[in-house]
Amino acid sequence: MSAVKQICLLGGTGSIGQSTLDIIARHPGRYQLFAVSGFSRVDRLAEICQTFKPVYAVVPDNKARTALTAKITGLDTQVLVGAEALEEVSRAPEVDTVVAAIVGAAGLLPALAAVKAGKRILLANKEALVMSGQLFMDAVKASGAELLPIDSEHNAIFQCLPELGTHFEAGSLPDRGVRQILLTASGGPFRTFSAAALEQVTPEQAVAHPNWSMGQKISVDSATLMNKGLELIEACWLFAVQPQQIQVVVHPQSIIHSMVSYNDGSVIAQMGNPDMRTPIAYGLAWPERIDAGVGPLDLFQVAQLDFEPADESLFPCLRLAKESFCQGGTAPAILNAANEIAVEAFLLRHIGFTQIAQLCEQALESLESHSANSLEQILADDRCARDFSRRWLERLPVSGIKAH
Ligand code: NAD
Ligand code: MG
Repeated sequence: MSAVKQICLLGGTGSIGQSTLDIIARHPGRYQLFAVSGFSRVDRLAEICQTFKPVYAVVPDNKARTALTAKITGLDTQVLVGAEALEEVSRAPEVDTVVAAIVGAAGLLPALAAVKAGKRILLANKEALVMSGQLFMDAVKASGAELLPIDSEHNAIFQCLPELGTHFEAGSLPDRGVRQILLTASGGPFRTFSAAALEQVTPEQAVAHPNWSMGQKISVDSATLMNKGLELIEACWLFAVQPQQIQVVVHPQSIIHSMVSYNDGSVIAQMGNPDMRTPIAYGLAWPERIDAGVGPLDLFQVAQLDFEPADESLFPCLRLAKESFCQGGTAPAILNAANEIAVEAFLLRHIGFTQIAQLCEQALESLESHSANSLEQILADDRCARDFSRRWLERLPVSGIKAH
C-alpha cells in the first residue's frame, strides 16, 4: 500500500466531519488528519485535536484561538485563524485529500483553493458547486483535481456510471448509453403533510429527519426539498447533464441512494443503509473499497421499497432551484444565499416554514442575476441576496410560530 494519505478536514466539528473522523480512526495506516477546522464548537475541536493530533487546527477568530490553545496544551498542533487559513491548509503541499464539509457559502473559497491546488476533493459542501458550478468545474479540469462527490445521491450516481474517471464532459453520459439519472429523495419529515399543516411546523419537527442524522441547515433543506433542488444543480455540474436528464424520485426508505437508467432498459441502483460513512469511505479509498463500519443491508428487514413523484406545488423550493439553474449565471447563488438567510430565520422562529420558499422566490424574482464567470461577481450577488433577504425579513410582521 502507498504512503499514508494526509487529510485536510474542513468542517471537522459537524456531522460529515464526525463521520469522516470515524473512518480515519478505523484506518490509521492509511489516513492521517493533517488539518481540521471548526467554527463554533471549540470543545469538540479540542477533543478532535487530542485524539488525532493534527498539524493544524483552524478557528474563526482570536477568541476561539485563545480558548482552543488553552484546551490543548502539550500538543504540537498549531492553531490558525480565519477564512484565509482555511484556504492555506486546503492547498498545503503535504495534503493529499481535502474533505469539504463546511456548510453553506462559507465553504466555497477553501474548496476552490483545494481544486486549484489539484487535490483529491471529497465534496459534501454542495452550496459551493451551486454557487460557482462553471468556475468550479473549469478549475477542476484545469488543475486535474480529483473531484469525488460524497453527497450520498451523487456518490451513488458516480458508482452507477461507467468508468469515466472523475471528470465528465458534456455529452459523455448519453454517449455511454445513459438515458437518465434518477435522483432519489426521502421526501423529508413532511412528505405526507397538507399545505395547511405545513404552515404550522416547528424547527424541532423540521430537523428531525426520518432516516438521516445531519446538521440543522441541511435538515431544514431536506424538509423544504431545497436540498433536492440544490442536489439537482449539483448533479448537473458534476455529471455535465441538463435538468431534463434528471428525474427526482421520492423514495421514503432511503435505501436506494440514487440510480442510473440506461438506453437498453437497465437501471443500476446503489443501495445501502443510510449512513454517510459509506460515501465518505468510498471517496477516501477510491478506486479501492475499505471498511466503513457500516453493517450489511438486511433486505428482509427493509422488506419494501416505495417510489412516488415529488410534489412541487407543496414544496416549491425544488421548482425554484430548477428555474434558477435554467436562468443561469448567478441566479443559483442568489437562491442559495436567500435560502441560507431564510433557514436561519426559520430556525430562530422569526418566520414560518412556508415563508422559506416565499423569501427564496422573492429574491429570485427581484434581483438581477449576472454572468457567473468571476468569483467577485458571484460573491457580490451572494452579498446582495443576503442584504435583500434581511430587508425582506425586517418588513414582516412578528411571526406567531411557537414550539409544540
Ligand atoms: P453541520 O452543521 O453538522 O457542520 C457544519 C460544519 O461547518 C461545522 O464543522 C461548522 O463548524 C462549520 N462551519 C459552519 N459555518 C462556518 C463558517 N461560516 N465558516 C467556517 N466553517 C463553518 O453540517 P453537516 O450536516 O456536516 O453538513 C456539511 C455540508 O455537507 C453541508 O454543505 C451539507 O449540505 C453537506 N452534506 C451533509 C450531509 C449529512 O449527512 N450531514 C449529507 C450530504 C451533504
Ligand atoms: Mg444528499
